[in-house]
Amino acid sequence: MKLQTLHDLYIDNLKDLYNAENQIIKALPKMAKAATSPQLQQAYTTHLEQTQRQIERLDQIFNELDIKPTGKRCRGMEGLIEEGQELIEENADPDVRDAGLIAAAQKVEHYEISGYGTARTYAEHLGFTKAVRLLDQILAEEKETDAKLTTLAESSINIKAER
Ligand code: FE
Ligand code: FE
Repeated sequence: MKLQTLHDLYIDNLKDLYNAENQIIKALPKMAKAATSPQLQQAYTTHLEQTQRQIERLDQIFNELDIKPTGKRCRGMEGLIEEGQELIEENADPDVRDAGLIAAAQKVEHYEISGYGTARTYAEHLGFTKAVRLLDQILAEEKETDAKLTTLAESSINIKAER
């Protein structure tokens, strides 16, 4: 039996998140390229840098557990990124595409917030204090990115897309 304890599920979750982040690293430059708004491009680029640091934090967590982060494919993230790619390939007005790109990015952030929230709760329960701190840092960045995208959509992108 692969998943026998909460600890096993915790590791499984972390591997899923690790793979999700690595998929995001590849997707973000494509989304930035497809974006028309310089602010949106900048938001993607900033989050790409954050994502690189997030992977380093996950590496730290795996190191302390003395396990490899590999062996899992995050199907959820795969689907979300695929949908984002479909949008990019759609024949869309540039401003409307930007609005859609924000929505796609926010789905990714919400998915991450959910995953990290669970992982953080498990880490807390299992007594991994350092991991709790690292996961909290990641969680804060995902939430901040989500909020930033909401502001960007409401203050300019959605308005341009309406016209
Ligand atoms: Fe992330
Ligand atoms: Fe993120």
